[in-house]
Amino acid sequence: MSRFDGKIGIITGAASGIGKEIAVRFAAEGGTPVIADLNLQAAQATAEEIRKTGADAFAVAMNVTDEAQVEQGIAEVIARYGKIDVLVSNAGIQIVKPLVDFPYEEWKKLLAIHLDGAFLTTRACLKHMYAANYGRVVYMGSVHSKEASKLKAPYVTAKHGLIGLAKVLAKEGAEHNVTANVVCPGFVRTPLVDKQIPEQAQEFGITEEQVVKTIMLKDTVDGEFTTTADVAEAVLFFAGASSNALTGQSLVVSHGWFMQ
Ligand code: NAD
Repeated sequence: MSRFDGKIGIITGAASGIGKEIAVRFAAEGGTPVIADLNLQAAQATAEEIRKTGADAFAVAMNVTDEAQVEQGIAEVIARYGKIDVLVSNAGIQIVKPLVDFPYEEWKKLLAIHLDGAFLTTRACLKHMYAANYGRVVYMGSVHSKEASKLKAPYVTAKHGLIGLAKVLAKEGAEHNVTANVVCPGFVRTPLVDKQIPEQAQEFGITEEQVVKTIMLKDTVDGEFTTTADVAEAVLFFAGASSNALTGQSLVVSHGWFMQ
C-alpha cells in the first residue's frame, strides 16, 4: 500500500520545474497527478512521461488566472475521476525590477498568477473536497513568504499573501477535514531561477557567478541550492498527512537561508 494509492491530486504549473517533480513523485507513490498548466503541450509530455512508468496521469490546459478555464479544468477532472483529494497550487512566475519603476501591468500579472490563481483553483476544488469531506491543499510559497529581497516587490507581496490564504482556509476547511499549508523553498535551479540570474546580474552590475554566490546562496548554511526533490518531499508530507492537526502551517526548505 503506497501513501497516495487512489488519490487524485491537481498540481498547477506541473509541466516544469518543482511542480513536475511533485507530480512524478506523487505518481510514484500511487497517486494520480493532474498536470494543470498554461503550456498544454508540455503538460501532455509530462503526463506521458509519468504514464510510461505505469502510473496514471492526466493533463489539462489551465491558465490559473482565467476563471472559466479553471472551472472547466476542474470539471474535466471531476468528469474523469469523480473527486479531488489534493490541490498543490504551484504555478508561478518571477519578474525582477526595482520598485521605483515597476510597470503596473507586470505587477498585476505577477499578483494574478500567484494570488488569483491560488484563489480560483482553491475555490473550484473546495466544492468537491467539502462534498467528499476530505482535502489537502498545499500552496507553493517561498522564503519570500517570510523574507524580502530587492527587485522582487510583487513576488514577495504575493508569497506573503499565500500564507494569509492558507490560514483562512485552515479555519474554514477544518469542519470538512480540509487542511491548508504552505511550503517555502529557497532557490531551486529551475527555468524560473535560470532566467533571473542574468537579469539580476544586469540590474546590479555584477557577474552571474556573483549573483549566485553573493545574493542567492549567501545566507544558506552551506552554499547549496535547494532541489526540486527537497521541495517535493515537503509538499508530499503535507499532502499525505493523515492528521488534521497539521494545518495553517508554513515550512521553509532552504538550506537554512531563513530560520524560524
Ligand atoms: P518553472 O518556471 O520551472 O515552472 C512554472 C510552471 O508554471 C511552468 O510550467 C509554467 O508554464 C506554469 N505557469 C506559468 N504561468 C501559469 C499560469 N498562468 N497558469 C498555469 N500555469 C502557469 O518554475 P518553478 O521554479 O518550478 O516554480 C514553481 C513554483 O515554485 C512557483 O510558484 C515559484 O514561485 C515557486 N518557487 C520557486 C523557487 C525557485 O527557486 N525555483 C523558489 C521558491 C518558490
